[in-house]
Amino acid sequence: MAELLETGLLGLDFQELTALVQRHGQPQYRARQLFHAIYPQRVKSLRDISTLPKSFLAVLQEEGLEIRQPQIERKFQSQDGTIRYLMAMPDGETVETVWMPEGDGGEVADGSEAGDNGWGRGTICVSSQVGCAVNCQFCLTALLGVKRNLQAGEIVGQVATVLNDRGVDLERQHLNIVFMGMGEPFLNYPSFMKAVRLLVEGVGFPESRMTVSTSGIAPRIYDFGNEPIRPKLAISLNASNDEVRSRIMPINKKWDLTSLMHAARSFPLRNRERITFEYVVLRGVNDELSHARELLELVRGIRCKVNLIALNPGPGIPFAIPTDRLVREFQSVLVQAGIPTFIRRPRGRDIYAACGQLKRTVA
Ligand code: SF4
Repeated sequence: MAELLETGLLGLDFQELTALVQRHGQPQYRARQLFHAIYPQRVKSLRDISTLPKSFLAVLQEEGLEIRQPQIERKFQSQDGTIRYLMAMPDGETVETVWMPEGDGGEVADGSEAGDNGWGRGTICVSSQVGCAVNCQFCLTALLGVKRNLQAGEIVGQVATVLNDRGVDLERQHLNIVFMGMGEPFLNYPSFMKAVRLLVEGVGFPESRMTVSTSGIAPRIYDFGNEPIRPKLAISLNASNDEVRSRIMPINKKWDLTSLMHAARSFPLRNRERITFEYVVLRGVNDELSHARELLELVRGIRCKVNLIALNPGPGIPFAIPTDRLVREFQSVLVQAGIPTFIRRPRGRDIYAACGQLKRTVA
């Protein structure tokens, strides 16, 4: 009940809403009406629900219950159309959520690329924790440490809030969701997976248009492969050997490349699905052609694609941007071996909305 009061009705699944209406002596179809209002219709307040009797809504409100979508505290708009939202949760903690119009740089691994169709496309990058404990050395979010996990309703709420703010009609517009904002989704696994189910069964997002990125929490990759409803998998690899990876991603000391790549190889891919390997290129650290060849051996035989991401610079980040020439040569090594490899266009760099830049403005 504490959770319910804190975050509201958003985040409750159909069974939980059914229990709630039954507790109030209401017929079961009221649960369906509540579910429909909260998720597909994305209403912001109980008083906006016209299908439920006012007396029942009043009882819920007297109990302190509300829907409680996150509040937009600030909005930063980039020249390229990217919007970075600072979202306040019911307890006042803030996270960042990013809207990228058009495409997503191929992040979703569905064959689409940034800017391939100006109309009706867009990607929402969602946070899963307040801050992050993983401590990747190239990431601004890491500088915060982790404050707490987000609850399922707070994860779904970021999506609902952006959809409402952008006036998106999901029946006409094909959007993608990437769980690549602040936090490591697989360190908040139950809430993350509940949010996924609510987005699919409630809000109406196809699972095939969602991608989750993990820094390499190997045991959860096995769990994730067994989920009946799940997004696509991206692994934030960023290095081709343990020495470099442990240096830039300390999580590698817990799950090294052998255990991570074993999990990746065991991952049950669906028809035409690929694992995305993300590789943030850092000048003089992991950008040599020898690294490209090592990477090729790591991923050989896995149905995958590779996204090369030139470092997004930021204060306090002790790495430099690689040269374009080296990134292109790195790409060629992989492409010539038959690995689809893309160089991601940075989005919203000027407003610190690009990868690894979230939480620049708020300490
Ligand atoms: S890159 Fe992702 S997993 Fe790594 S510290 Fe940043 S938010 Fe956490």
